[in-house]
Amino acid sequence: MALIVHKYGGTSMGSTERIGLVAKRVAKWARAGHQMVVVPSAMSGETNRLLALAKELAPQRQTKAYARELDMLASTGEQASVALLAIALQAEGMDAVSYTGWQVPIKTDSSFTKARIESIDDARVRADLAAGRVVIITGFQGIDADGNITTLGRGGSDTSAVAVAAAMKADECLIYTDVDGVYTTDPRVVAEARRLNTISFEEMLEMASLGSKVLQTRSVEFAGKYKVPVRVLSSFTPWDIDLQEEAASGTLITIEENVNMEQAVVSGIAFNRDEAKISLLGVPDTPGIAFKILSSVSAANIDVDMIIQNLSKDGKTDFSFTVHRNDYARALDVLQEQVAPALGASEVIGDPKICKVSIVGIGMRSHAGVASKMFESLSAEGINIQMISTSEIKVSVVIDEKYMELAVRALHKAFDLDAEAA
Ligand code: ASP
Ligand code: MG
Repeated sequence: MALIVHKYGGTSMGSTERIGLVAKRVAKWARAGHQMVVVPSAMSGETNRLLALAKELAPQRQTKAYARELDMLASTGEQASVALLAIALQAEGMDAVSYTGWQVPIKTDSSFTKARIESIDDARVRADLAAGRVVIITGFQGIDADGNITTLGRGGSDTSAVAVAAAMKADECLIYTDVDGVYTTDPRVVAEARRLNTISFEEMLEMASLGSKVLQTRSVEFAGKYKVPVRVLSSFTPWDIDLQEEAASGTLITIEENVNMEQAVVSGIAFNRDEAKISLLGVPDTPGIAFKILSSVSAANIDVDMIIQNLSKDGKTDFSFTVHRNDYARALDVLQEQVAPALGASEVIGDPKICKVSIVGIGMRSHAGVASKMFESLSAEGINIQMISTSEIKVSVVIDEKYMELAVRALHKAFDLDAEAA
């Protein structure tokens, strides 16, 4: 008997019919003798629907008071779905009970719309499990120290599920979703992409934060920190498939020692179009320049990702960085209106039509020449690299967005990730 957490995404909870299938699947696991905690998302489209209502009433609001009400509102999506799942399980003849985040309670800080979980009191949940109940907990939400309902950011149910699994020392957290695992890259871009049987926490963290949308990045941070084995698997298999077969399907995110070692040097290729590039030309190359530029940007609450400073010529240098595309216009304003005049920069130029492509793999630690192989295959396709950044287990480049798919395909092939023809 194990303690198992299941998480079901919005599509899996998309209709009463689908909720009924989730209930049958959960009941199968419970009847096999496992203690079951289930963390569902809102029914698909529900969170968007709720947030759109708020926008109709107040399109421009950005106050803390407004954010508080957004969380109050959005949290109801999951409140409805947990109750429906409990009802469906009861209809299956199971003893089941649902709780919202505040009833557990799941305590968070007070950053409305992007709260962080601080602690989870599992006493109530444990008592129910001991009494033979299936416990269903709302994803996406908690309560702050002042008793306000908070939410964890879009896609936050992944984080709720992993956090509950960590707090309860669950044997495994299974994330049921509309894809059947983590792939070497997005199969919509590369038809030869393969599902990975295993991937390390660290690689998954890079993949998630570099643009693979399978899991909320924060959930992977949690999983790695508390070493919670997380499995991503399909919720579209028939509910009554053999439990052992289901339990071994999908992709297991785990400690490095458990990762399949015959795996290639590069495990996956991530990409995203969410960034934009800004350059400041002809700034004086003196101490404090990077600080002055970036502190003005961060004072405007804009996060910076990659940064490059060129060699200087005649005491002047060029400075480039990337920001999220949503912040692009604002960042340009800050630079044109404040930074460039203050520093005497000659020009500010921007380019929102870029993308970031990254190769990720723990194998890079022990293999030289991975970056140069990447650059070689991009050059063979005639793709110009605009920026580069590296870490121990990843290399990212910024290129023109029109070459994104070409680059991803070329790299997938160059690093032997294409599936062997069967
Ligand atoms: N319902 C929330 C959202 O749509 C949380 C989640 O689904 O994970 O973002
Ligand atoms: Mg999701």
